[in-house]
Amino acid sequence: MEKLRIAIQKSGRLSEKSLLLLKEAGISLNNGSRKLRSVAQAFPLEVIYLRDDDIPQYVEDGVAHIGIVGENEFAEKACEVKLIERLGYSRCRLSIAVPKSDNYKSLEDLNGKRITTSYPVILKNYLDEKGVKAEIHVLSGSVELAPSIGMADAIFDIVSSGSTLISNGLKEVEVVMKSEAVIIAGRQLDAEIQAVLDDLIFRIRSVLAASNNKYILLNAPNENLQQIIETIPGMKSPTVMPLAEPGWSSVHSVLSEKEFWAVIDRLRELGAQGILVIPIEKMIV
Ligand code: ATP
Ligand code: MG
Repeated sequence: MEKLRIAIQKSGRLSEKSLLLLKEAGISLNNGSRKLRSVAQAFPLEVIYLRDDDIPQYVEDGVAHIGIVGENEFAEKACEVKLIERLGYSRCRLSIAVPKSDNYKSLEDLNGKRITTSYPVILKNYLDEKGVKAEIHVLSGSVELAPSIGMADAIFDIVSSGSTLISNGLKEVEVVMKSEAVIIAGRQLDAEIQAVLDDLIFRIRSVLAASNNKYILLNAPNENLQQIIETIPGMKSPTVMPLAEPGWSSVHSVLSEKEFWAVIDRLRELGAQGILVIPIEKMIV
């Protein structure tokens, strides 16, 4: 059987989480210490390890069928590949920053300025769209140093917490795009490989859904049972069982991480007691 070949970053901010995702999807790789490639056990998949910059091109060329990259690399390389799944980790944004002392008011202030970046394509598209004409200088690393050594008036780079900007005397003035890890695939996959990919995506969705949801159990006073059921409708509807103590029921359901605290507050208002929240390992939706 032909193997699905997936490209993963060799070492960097995407590597560990991408390998963990495969592991949680039940795919174990045959070599613990990372080489250039490894083969999965009991699943027709092979991993090749590359620099993230190279992954979109390898996928376009068909050397790898799919790859995991930051959405920023996907946008920057503009290769003939499609985004097939968002993975929710390695979240960051791409922003324009200027020296803290700069009296920046709006994008127009960047007309005629020098902006240093490792993402010239994304920046150029953005500036063109906004009608701003600036000089774009490309640097592959340490972009945040450019203003302090007089090389640039502004930078365009990845920001997560913003602490790197602050420690380099810069302030973030425009957020151009948000990014997270994504799976990209080549335009044309043969039927056999597509079937393996569908299976992998199904497993990955089950892992992601599980990590976004919790299993919740609680004791509900019967007079508020209906409202409690409406508060935690779960996947289909909650399981309700009578407690040994008259007037009370046990309710089991699934709760999304996003609405977690608001729902817990509402349940307490409705008199729920003994609330237990348990992680879910896999969720088949
Ligand atoms: P490579 O050696 O493979 O070229 P790199 O240095 O280009 O690696 P990393 O710094 O490992 O790349 O970042 C990989 C991806 O992780 C980025 O393209 C971005 O999508 C995301 N990322 C970068 N910095 C952060 C951050 N501080 N927080 C979260 N995600 C980030
Ligand atoms: Mg890179």
